[in-house]
Amino acid sequence: MNFNDTLGQQLRLTIRDIADYPKPGIVFKDITPVLANPMLVNAITQVLVKHAEALRIDAIVAIEARGFIFGGMLAHTLNVPFVPVRKVGKLPYRTIAKEYDLEYGSATIEMHEDAIIKGWNVLIHDDLLATGGTAAAAGHLVQQAGGKVAGFSFLVNLSFLPGAEKLSGEFGVNPFYLVSF
Ligand code: AMP
Repeated sequence: MNFNDTLGQQLRLTIRDIADYPKPGIVFKDITPVLANPMLVNAITQVLVKHAEALRIDAIVAIEARGFIFGGMLAHTLNVPFVPVRKVGKLPYRTIAKEYDLEYGSATIEMHEDAIIKGWNVLIHDDLLATGGTAAAAGHLVQQAGGKVAGFSFLVNLSFLPGAEKLSGEFGVNPFYLVSF
């Protein structure tokens, strides 16, 4: 068993399932017990940094809100710009927006229009990959701004949903994650 497998096991044991949150039928993967363990946070950051280093990225695009936690640490450690992607109406300056489908209805995310320099290699980070709709929308915003999607990273992948296939199909890169449920 290598270091990443051991870390994956630790995450599996530490992430807390919350049944029927935020609505009936959803099992919410609560990462706050992970955040309460500094040694685990350190180990996760190291593995995410190693993945990002190999991609030679120019910026981290992180998705509100839980993506900001490790996204911030990644940007700091790699010494690259941190770019927030937020729900509609939350960013103060001029934005570009992308609407995407949810199971029922739709959602819109935004990024500042000047956040990405044309030609930048960008890593998109969030805590969890489910259907892939949010991460794909962030990827399309990066492309619209003239950036290249170099990769995606997550702590958790929900393998019973087609998020990983969606991202590799639309962007030609396999998403990286530390544990799959
Ligand atoms: P999706 O767009 O379906 O891939 O959903 C990913 C986004 O929704 C991420 O920002 C996750 O934090 C959040 N999310 C979706 N499903 C869950 C879940 N079961 N537990 C925790 N967060 C989730």
